Amino acid sequence: MTKLVWYRNDLRCHFHQGLQHALASGEAVRAVYLDCPQQWHDHGIAPLRQRYVLRALLSLGDNLAALGVPLDVIDCGRFSRVADVLASHADTHDVDEIFCTREYPFNEMARDRAVARVMAQRSVAITAFDDAVLVPPRTLTTGQGGWYSVFTPYRKRWQVWLAENPPPGDGLDASPRKKSGRFPGREYLQARLAETEHLAGHDRQWPADEATVREELARFIDEHLAGYKRDRDFPALDGTSGLSAALSTGVLAAAECYRLAEDEMARRPAAKEGGNTWVGELAWRDFYRQIMANHPRLATGEPYRDETRFIQWSRDEALYQAWCEGRTGYPLVDAAMRQLRQTGWMHNRLRMVTAMFLTKNLFIDWRWGEQWFMQHLVDGDFAANNGGWQWSASTGTDAAPYFRVFNPVRQGERFDPEGDFIRRYVPELAQLEGKAVHQPWKSPMLCPDYPQPVVSLDGVRDKVVSAFQAARDIAQQKDFA
Ligand SMILES: Cc1cc2nc3c(=O)[nH]c(=O)nc-3n(C[C@H](O)[C@H](O)[C@H](O)COP(=O)(O)OP(=O)(O)OC[C@H]3O[C@@H](n4cnc5c(N)ncnc54)[C@H](O)[C@@H]3O)c2cc1C
Repeated sequence: MTKLVWYRNDLRCHFHQGLQHALASGEAVRAVYLDCPQQWHDHGIAPLRQRYVLRALLSLGDNLAALGVPLDVIDCGRFSRVADVLASHADTHDVDEIFCTREYPFNEMARDRAVARVMAQRSVAITAFDDAVLVPPRTLTTGQGGWYSVFTPYRKRWQVWLAENPPPGDGLDASPRKKSGRFPGREYLQARLAETEHLAGHDRQWPADEATVREELARFIDEHLAGYKRDRDFPALDGTSGLSAALSTGVLAAAECYRLAEDEMARRPAAKEGGNTWVGELAWRDFYRQIMANHPRLATGEPYRDETRFIQWSRDEALYQAWCEGRTGYPLVDAAMRQLRQTGWMHNRLRMVTAMFLTKNLFIDWRWGEQWFMQHLVDGDFAANNGGWQWSASTGTDAAPYFRVFNPVRQGERFDPEGDFIRRYVPELAQLEGKAVHQPWKSPMLCPDYPQPVVSLDGVRDKVVSAFQAARDIAQQKDFA
């Protein structure tokens, strides 16, 4: 009989309980990845991210081959075909047990229920692990027995639970087992990668092989963890880990991040402040995953806060295009939006600034922005993206209060004081020295090609407050109806 490791967003060998259990069985082990390009298309996954996943698989296949585990990659189209394709694969290879890492988005859970049904008919066991998170989504409940919807108390409980239930260690015996392991999926992957060859210029910036990613984690912990709290909000600095693509595709395990950060803090007291702040980001990651798993309606585009369904968002295509293309006339917003298009990534501070600018200053529907991010981010992750957008639009769980509106000029002066980041992405502003870069409309002769602001910043807060109030009034009337 054969043990089958079914890979999804857990594209690694280390800190992978499913693979370790399969290897420990002493039976033959195979691995499989079911490629669903049409599903990616339906989910609006960025081409750069698609390429990242395929590159990660190419490297995973080699690593698995060295362990004597052949990786098959099968074209499946959409999730709706997965159960049948996996069943036939299991029949062909005499599989009696499948190992996988649990996934929590709505369509993924529906796919997995279908697989569970067909495997039950064949008496094939499925063993699933919660390795995609540090604390499984249905573990922590509030004093009233509900799911957490506010981050701070969640974080406190999360920390206590993890101290009592630390994530399992690596446990992979990585010594090669067979003379020459096979990698049957290689040709398929090479052909698929050729489809996005025009994006190959980005490959160096986003390493997708596990060994390099683990080295980057070690370097970040060593060089940047201690200063993380101080540096993380300044986009011109190399102050954050840049590991989000690897974490969201599972090339890197959250467990390894957590364990290394905790070890560093124990070893080096000076790393404590930065380390705790960084571990807090891993808690945000779990928080949004538990929100998504416990409120599946979010996957249908609904806001978390019911009354915000009645907000009359603008549908101004011209303003939306100006935002997408980084032509709003607000330097920090434009630099950030160009960073996204040029690199497939955007700094966290700027994700908040640009999302708030779209939803509060332009008053455009947060779902438009959520989709644009997903179509361009190399780390596009449904839970984190939806959570971040609903936070910024004040429609979500632990959202920014609706009357809080970032001023993009002040954000620039605070977090990019000398304008180094802005000038990197907005060359039209190169002639403006130092702080002058934040208000280019005061020096039009020095930046003739840069647009005028597309909207005024005056009166924004009042407009937002009355729009949210109007939505609440409609919600109340509907309750009475
Ligand atoms: C509007 C908006 C959209 C976002 N979309 C995504 C997305 O699609 N994918 C994504 O991974 N993150 C998203 N984030 C969260 C955050 O911006 C990125 O995780 C972070 O910028 C990645 O950079 P880093 O790896 O250097 O992070 P670091 O600061 O080094 O943090 C370490 C890790 O913690 C996790 N993390 C950090 N901040 C958050 C957060 N606020 N929510 C959830 N997880 C977090 C990520 O996995 C990150 O790699 C979004 C935030 C906002 C405000």
